[in-house]
Amino acid sequence: MEAEAQAIRPNLRIVLKLSGEILSNVDGYGIDRDALTRLADEINALHQANAEVALVIGGGNIIRGETFSASGAARTTADYMGMLVTVVNALALQDALESQGIDTRVMSAIKIDEVCEGYIRRRAVRHLEKRRIVIFAAGTGNPFFTTDTAASLRAVEIEADILCKATKVDGVYSDNPDLNPDAKLYKKLSYDEALSQNLAVMDTTAIVLCREHKIPIRVFNMKTRGACENIIKGSDIGTLISI
Ligand code: UDP
Repeated sequence: MEAEAQAIRPNLRIVLKLSGEILSNVDGYGIDRDALTRLADEINALHQANAEVALVIGGGNIIRGETFSASGAARTTADYMGMLVTVVNALALQDALESQGIDTRVMSAIKIDEVCEGYIRRRAVRHLEKRRIVIFAAGTGNPFFTTDTAASLRAVEIEADILCKATKVDGVYSDNPDLNPDAKLYKKLSYDEALSQNLAVMDTTAIVLCREHKIPIRVFNMKTRGACENIIKGSDIGTLISI
């Protein structure tokens, strides 16, 4: 087993980045109750395995700022719309987790006090220490960013041991595996390789932040049952991006 994989074990602090699409059914749009329940089961298993779990949820199942602004909306407005829908997704996920008896707190980067807590780093860490799942919503709170960057920023802030990015494929490929059957799945990449080869992994900003703070990134297929739990148990699934 690789050194990095050995270091990943229960009681570690994990930031799990979930795209909004994970909450939807097959068409990738909206919020589907069955998808939510499946996701909550996976996160519950991770929680039961003693990890401190922080989630960052996207909003692509409802609105992505860049796409929406292409239809003529102002980009900043579209981005704020995108951030707000991540709060909607976070509330749906909180509900699904709490229906399984898991204490969960939503913390938003945009103040929305009647709905959830605002993000305060120290309070987030305290929640995690108390074994609550924290869902970071509203991205970074700034337009022109994505929730990938929010995930790496939060991972750095709360001193996470690993950032895991859930995807629909098995990891990072040399090309789009849906279009190119010869696309190669990488088991391991350095941050610099991921950046220089321009692989469709995460935003450049997100990877650079993790590189600067030496936070390993694991990209994996969320559709594989037990994947989250297996990662913290040291399984070498997906692609590991590290030094
Ligand atoms: N967004 C933003 N700033 C942030 C995070 C997100 O403006 O810090 C907006 C942006 O418009 C983005 C949308 O929120 O397209 C939804 O986030 P994202 O596209 O990352 O969601 P995902 O693709 O992961 O579902």
